[in-house]
Amino acid sequence: MAHQRDTTVMKVTILGLGLFGGGAGAARYFAERGHQVSVTDLRTEQQLEPAVKALAGLPIRYHLGSHPEELFREADLVVVNPGVKPGSPHLAAARAAGVKLTTEINLVFELAKAPIAGVTGSNGKSTTAAMLAAIMQRAGRQMLLGGNLGGSLLGEVEKFPADGLIVMELSSFQLQRLAWTERSPHLAIVTNVTPNHLDWHPNFADYAQAKEQIARFQSQDDFLVTNADCPVASKWSEWSKARVARFSVLSRPPAPAAWLEGGKLVLDLGAGPEEIMPAAELPLPGRHNQANALAAALAAGFLTAEGAGGLWALGFGLSEQPRLPKPKAQGPKPASALSAAIREFKGLPHRLELVAEKNGVRFYNDSIATTPESAIAALESFDCPVALVAGGSDKGVDYAAFGRVAARRADFVALTGPTGPKIRAAIEAAGGGRTRLVDAASFDAACRLAFAAARPGWAVLMSPASASFDEFPNFERRGERFRELTKG
Ligand code: ADP
Repeated sequence: MAHQRDTTVMKVTILGLGLFGGGAGAARYFAERGHQVSVTDLRTEQQLEPAVKALAGLPIRYHLGSHPEELFREADLVVVNPGVKPGSPHLAAARAAGVKLTTEINLVFELAKAPIAGVTGSNGKSTTAAMLAAIMQRAGRQMLLGGNLGGSLLGEVEKFPADGLIVMELSSFQLQRLAWTERSPHLAIVTNVTPNHLDWHPNFADYAQAKEQIARFQSQDDFLVTNADCPVASKWSEWSKARVARFSVLSRPPAPAAWLEGGKLVLDLGAGPEEIMPAAELPLPGRHNQANALAAALAAGFLTAEGAGGLWALGFGLSEQPRLPKPKAQGPKPASALSAAIREFKGLPHRLELVAEKNGVRFYNDSIATTPESAIAALESFDCPVALVAGGSDKGVDYAAFGRVAARRADFVALTGPTGPKIRAAIEAAGGGRTRLVDAASFDAACRLAFAAARPGWAVLMSPASASFDEFPNFERRGERFRELTKG
C-alpha cells in the first residue's frame, strides 16, 4: 500500500470509531506512522469513552456527535466502519471527490505476509474460527485470531511471520467491502447462509452475495470449506475456482469429506475415512457445534496438508519440535491429534463455555445470554437434562417464548434477580409442571441450588436471559463468579 513506502503524510478519516476495536486499531495504526488522523462518529465522547481512552496520547482529531462533510471530501483515505451502511451519503461524498475508501479488515489483508483463513456464515462464525485457531495452535503454528471477533490485528500483522496463520471471522458487511481489494482468504470456511442482517442488506440476495466474496477471488491454489447441508452455501462449489470440500451433519459421502456416522465425527482427507471422536464427547453442546467442529477439522486438515508432508509437516501433536516432519507410523493418526485439540477447546468465554465437569455433570457459562432469544438458543442446544440458572436485572422484555422453551427443555430452574418472578410466571403459564422451579435470594444461591439439583449426565446451564446489573458490573463478572462457584 502507498502509505507503507510513501513518506508523504496522508489525511486519514476514520468513519465510525465504534467500540469493537477496529476503528481504534486503524486510528492508532495511521497516527503512529505520522499521518493526520481525524476520527468521526455519530456517538458522543461519553458513549465512546473506552475507545477514546485506548487512543489517549496519540495526535488524533475527534469530531464526535456529527460527521463534518469536509472530512470526507478533503481526505486522502477514508477507513469505513462495518456499521456504516452502503447507502451512506458520506461514502457517496468521498467517492464523488475521488477519495480512496478502505476498511480495517482490508488493510489487514493488504499488509499480511502470512496466509489468511477466513470464516463466515450466518451463525457459528466465532466458534468455528476460534476452534480452528485452537487446533492450529496445538499443531505448532503461530496464530493470530481476529476480525469480527473484536479488537484489531493491524498493529501486529506487519511483523507477523509468513509461516504463521491468521484466522479471521468475517461478517457480510466486512466481506462486501473486502471485494474492493479483489482478495479472498487463502482458505475460506462458510458455516451456513440463512436470512440475517436484512436491516443492513436490502434483500437476501444482496446478503448472500456479500457472503460469496469470501470465495469469489480465490484461485486454484486456495481452499474452500463449505456446508453440504446448506442449500445456499453448498452451491458455491459450482463456481468456485478453489479446492472445495464439504462437511455435513445430515448426509454421508461422497458429498461431504467430513460427516457424522454412528454417532462419530468422521473425516476423509483423501486417505480413507478416519474417526475424529464420538460426537457426544465434544465439549460444546448441540448439533450445530458438531457442524462447527467438522468445518474446523476439515479446514485444519486442508491447511496442514498444504505443501506436501500432510499433517506431519506441521508436527501435529508434537509441541517440542513443531515443524519436524515425522513418518505417520510413529505417531497417532492425524484425526486423533485433531480430536485432542477439539477436546481441549472449551468454547468462547461466556458463550456456552464449558467451565467444569464433575461427577458426570457439565457446567456451562452462558453469561452473554442477556436476552430471552439467546437463552432459548442455549437451551435448545442440549439433549440431556438441564438445571438452569436464570434471571437478573430487568430490561422490560417479554418472557413468554422463553417460558415455553424452558418448560420443555429444563428439568430444574433456579431463579434470581428482578426478572426471576417474571420468568417463573412465564414457565408456569406454559404449563411447565414437570420443571422444578426454585426462587433464590442471590445469584450465588441460585447457582448452588442448580449444582445440588444436577445428577450425573445432566448439564448445569447459567443462561440468565437477563442482564447482570442487579448484582454485577457486567456479564463477564457474572460469568467469572459462576466459574468460581463451580470450583468450590
Ligand atoms: P456468530 O459468530 O456467527 O454469531 P457464534 O459462534 O458466536 O456465531 O454462535 C452464536 C450462536 O449461534 C450460538 O450460541 C448458537 O446458538 C448459534 N450457532 C452456532 N453455530 C451454529 C451453526 N453452525 N448453525 C446454527 N446455529 C449456530
